Amino acid sequence: MKTVGREILWNLPHHQATVVLYSLLGVLLLLFAWGVCSRIRFYRRGRPEGENRLDRLWERTRDLLRIGFFQKRVLEKKPGGPIHLAIYASFIALFFVTCFVAVEHDLGVKVLDGDFYIAFKLFAETFGIVLVGGVVAALARRFILRSAGLSREAGDLVPLLLLGAVAFTGFLVEALRIAATHPAAAPYSFAANAVARLFDRVPIPDLLRLHRGVWWGHLLIAFGFLASIPYGKMLHGIAGPANIFLRSYRPTGTLQPIPDFDARETIGAGAIGEFSWKQLLDLDACAQCGRCEEACPAHATGKTLSPQKMIRDLRVESGPGVAYRREGREDAHGGPMIEGIGIRTADVWACTTCGHCVTSCPMMVEHVEKIVDMRRHLVLGKSDFPPELEQMFRKLEVFSDPWGFGPARRTEWAAGLDLKEVGRKGSVDIVYWVGCAGAYDERYRNVAVSLARILKEAGIRFGILGSREFCCGDFARRTGNEYLFRLLARKNMAVLEEYGVTKIVTPCPHCYNALRNEYPAFGGKFDVIHHSELILDLMESSGIRARNPLEKTISYHDPCYLGRYNGIFDPPRQVLSKIPGLRLAEAGRNRENGFCCGAGGGYLWLPEQGSRINEKRSSEFVDLKPDIVATACPHCMYMLEDGMVAAGDGGRIPESLDLAEIVLRSMER
Ligand code: SF4
Ligand code: SF4
Repeated sequence: MKTVGREILWNLPHHQATVVLYSLLGVLLLLFAWGVCSRIRFYRRGRPEGENRLDRLWERTRDLLRIGFFQKRVLEKKPGGPIHLAIYASFIALFFVTCFVAVEHDLGVKVLDGDFYIAFKLFAETFGIVLVGGVVAALARRFILRSAGLSREAGDLVPLLLLGAVAFTGFLVEALRIAATHPAAAPYSFAANAVARLFDRVPIPDLLRLHRGVWWGHLLIAFGFLASIPYGKMLHGIAGPANIFLRSYRPTGTLQPIPDFDARETIGAGAIGEFSWKQLLDLDACAQCGRCEEACPAHATGKTLSPQKMIRDLRVESGPGVAYRREGREDAHGGPMIEGIGIRTADVWACTTCGHCVTSCPMMVEHVEKIVDMRRHLVLGKSDFPPELEQMFRKLEVFSDPWGFGPARRTEWAAGLDLKEVGRKGSVDIVYWVGCAGAYDERYRNVAVSLARILKEAGIRFGILGSREFCCGDFARRTGNEYLFRLLARKNMAVLEEYGVTKIVTPCPHCYNALRNEYPAFGGKFDVIHHSELILDLMESSGIRARNPLEKTISYHDPCYLGRYNGIFDPPRQVLSKIPGLRLAEAGRNRENGFCCGAGGGYLWLPEQGSRINEKRSSEFVDLKPDIVATACPHCMYMLEDGMVAAGDGGRIPESLDLAEIVLRSMER
């Protein structure tokens, strides 16, 4: 009677096969270790990080398991997520299968026997089929269906072909063994058993020869694949989990301060070695899944910027081939990146810093920080930036506001409101940070006034800084002028500290983000809230009452710096839901998936090339046909107002209003 089990290295000369197998394994491990060590050496060439990447060990471990091991972010997208899971899970499962074989062979412990062997066979066969299915689906999606956002280079094709070949030859080896020996457990190798029937008429000696050849082929392909991991795209399997573990816990898009700013010879990144070690690790973590490109508003409107391509270009620049190409130069990794490799100056300036690439990335790659670092290099290292920015920088430097109206006109908007100025009229509970738009822009002044009237109606003891409030510096920072940002931040912090300010409310998400998330790195710690949060509090505590029904349909646009950057998605919607008569109609792209208005990253001042992001976003609202499009950001308001006029093409367009204006309408008697 046939036993259920199997002989390891069946049909092979045991001693010779073992010697060759372990010699090859030694070579594999050496190549693998060499590749990993050379990447670690490369990361170490990056500049120091401005952030502790080894704090919060519990959260880091949890995220490593949740996002890395259990693929939480990968699975958020279909069909790419399940396809990746099929390949990833079967790779791990088959690795354990091989480990069991090694344990039996090397330790002489009989484990592949009886019922366990049957379960082992079923497990291996199932995951072998899942691997083949995953590889075929991935190849079809990338190279036959040519899904948007997916790159189609040799580096994408070869790993998939190798994995497919490992699975195929694995089945073939098993099928040839079954055809030659007809073991009792053959039915449990259901796929290999089916293939074995193809060899029914092949003479045994030929089967044995063929089996030996395919067995060695399988081994060489599997070892070749494993050895190649540190040298290509599959490195994401190692660098990705490391990148997730070392992720930033700053709010999305918040920029790090530059360590030793005053002592540094170079600011920003003009060459690959000028990125931080973590930014270099990011490059290897990229799986080229295309999600960042799919999310990018600049790419969606025809700009050449693709965050995915940018990461890929930087990785090519950091690869081992570059040292060879640049042999003889002082620093093999020191060549210019911008216009030196695939990255164009226009790409660096096309980004709106919306952060959608960052939040879409399953590997926690931080694109925005790199783009701003390249801008810093252009602005502060080379004085090479669009002429429109020169005007804005000069006005910020001289007048402390981007329009150049100056401090004397900062309180014009408040004429007749009888508002307290902090420091002159005594203490207040909260400072109302108006922002440059509220102070100077004709249209947005109405929002500033509306919020002041709401705060007065609620009896809040608030004050404004008047002519002593300066631009928060967000425009300067996002356009790479870190020097100017630091100047403005220091001026503002000096005033806030002088007046003992602890609590601030602002309607501008850019001011909110700078004051709340970026000033602390420079020593300014304030309790900052957005006006949507304060208005909601006031409504809930009956500090104000929205009494007039507004019988309208309304759609809310999520500002990137409020929602995606700071997670404030619900308060604005809750405010709207408390106004009688309003019916909320959500845009197709909302909340985390909201589409940028096109103003961030300095685009209020920069000319946009090609089709416009604000028109693309606005057309979604024009098609939705609400009566009102609500915003909670001055920049979104400008962009949507303009965009809806263009997208509306002379037809009826929704009214664009800020939350504060809507609430005040409903409060007024
Ligand atoms: S931040 Fe926004 S605009 Fe910039 S690259 Fe990322 S997705 Fe594109
Ligand atoms: S950077 Fe992230 S989202 Fe973009 S292609 Fe790479 S892994 Fe995908």
